Amino acid sequence: MGTHVSRTVAEGVAFMNLIDGRSVDALSGRRIDVACPSDGRVFASIPASAEADVDAAVAAARRAFENGPWSRMAPADRGRCLTRLGLLIERNAEELAALESRDTGKPVRQGRADVTATMRYYEFYGGAADKIHGDTIPFLDGYTAMTLREPHGVVAGIVPWNYPLQILARVAGAALAMGNTLVVKPAEDASLTAIRIAELALEAGFPAGVFNVLTGYGAEAGAALSAHPDIDYVTFTGSPPTGAAIQAAAARNNRGATMELGGKSPQIVFADADLDAALPVLVNAIIQNGGQTCSAGSRILIERPAYDRVATALAERFSALVAGPHDADLDLGALINARQKDRVAGMVAAAEQAGVEVLARGSVDHDAPKEGFYFAPVLFGAVDPALELAREEVFGPVLALFAFDDEADAIRLANATDYGLVAGVWTRDGARQHRVAKRVRAGQVFVNGYGAGGGIELPFGGFRKSGHGREKGFEALYDMSATKTVVFNHG
Ligand code: NAD
Repeated sequence: MGTHVSRTVAEGVAFMNLIDGRSVDALSGRRIDVACPSDGRVFASIPASAEADVDAAVAAARRAFENGPWSRMAPADRGRCLTRLGLLIERNAEELAALESRDTGKPVRQGRADVTATMRYYEFYGGAADKIHGDTIPFLDGYTAMTLREPHGVVAGIVPWNYPLQILARVAGAALAMGNTLVVKPAEDASLTAIRIAELALEAGFPAGVFNVLTGYGAEAGAALSAHPDIDYVTFTGSPPTGAAIQAAAARNNRGATMELGGKSPQIVFADADLDAALPVLVNAIIQNGGQTCSAGSRILIERPAYDRVATALAERFSALVAGPHDADLDLGALINARQKDRVAGMVAAAEQAGVEVLARGSVDHDAPKEGFYFAPVLFGAVDPALELAREEVFGPVLALFAFDDEADAIRLANATDYGLVAGVWTRDGARQHRVAKRVRAGQVFVNGYGAGGGIELPFGGFRKSGHGREKGFEALYDMSATKTVVFNHG
């Protein structure tokens, strides 16, 4: 397998779907050009799959689930496949990091970090596959009752372009460890590594039809996949409107779904915080991956006595930030595409028009190709919590600062958006750490630290508009399975 993918991605390479263990083009033969965000140049193409391709992939996954050895295999053997995939990823780390960086525009350093996390996901879920079990339940005299953990069946994964390798890994790792089979539709802007991973999965010994990847547009291939009547469960990461469309499609078939829909995550900085420790983390949590991170720390709430100090220090760091080509490995790369750059620029312009003060701007490297989708980071001060900038995900390197008066005010502001994904709390006061962690609405809270996207072992997911269901860690295994209660009457 994989003869069409050269190690260095030769120019013009035509990537293929991977369905039922075979590399195949879309039945229509239509293709989508793949451009590098760093220079806008087309360097590859992917199939523009449609309903008929989705039918073929779902049928392959169904056959593999019902007839194949996968769902009946000893969990330890399934785990071994996942662990072997992790090892193959480690062996191909440089190739995967280069491909991911070129496809998304992210600095190679970030591509490497993504590959390491990806390898860890398969290793973690490989190890977990035989460690999850049901319960026995005390019941009536003469009965024995127990629960079995069963896979859903065929899982559809629709994944975004910001962390293609990592998000695929958290979906595939948990779904496959539980014995499901999988059909993945990566984002049309970043599909290349998903295809490569599905090839490596075959090499790792996954039976044909267990790990299928088909590429294409969201409105076409994605919509057909989420509406397919033979899908048992859908998992999606991306924007809230697309999440709503996918849930509506799944609801028409009465299927369950996990939704990870982004956030407007706050970091709360109290005046007693260790600022030397906090500052680099505050900056990194918004510039990592160019701010295109669902759990980006995009709002910083600062206790009023410390506001000027923190704002000045952040402004100094922001002014020094430079965006440039992925292989130049600067602070941040290009944004994913022209549409995303326009969206970020539009939200920044709207905030400026509303009179929000720009405290600092980073820059774009002079040598960066003009055709690349670069956006210089922006730091906004004293933002009005009613503005769009304060409430909506920008998904770019744009940070908004707010001042608060006391703990109650901080919690009110932190919870003032419709999202609830991640929060950071910076204070030396132990009792306050516990109080705030409990009251802030977020699926993850970091105290004196922040992990934008990090932590394979840590359950992750949102409240309200950030979505529902949990990924990562052991909890993802529960989402990717269901209990079956079995009751024996033995008199
Ligand atoms: P999107 O949510 O539309 O796309 C994500 C995935 O969904 C892609 O694979 C896409 O092909 C697919 N998709 C799109 N429409 C679909 C449909 N009708 N049915 C099924 N699948 C469909 O994201 P986008 O348009 O690329 O980006 C827009 C905004 O979404 C960004 O500005 C950002 O705010 C947000 N976003 C969030 C995340 C996240 O990790 N939470 C990731 C990407 C984008």
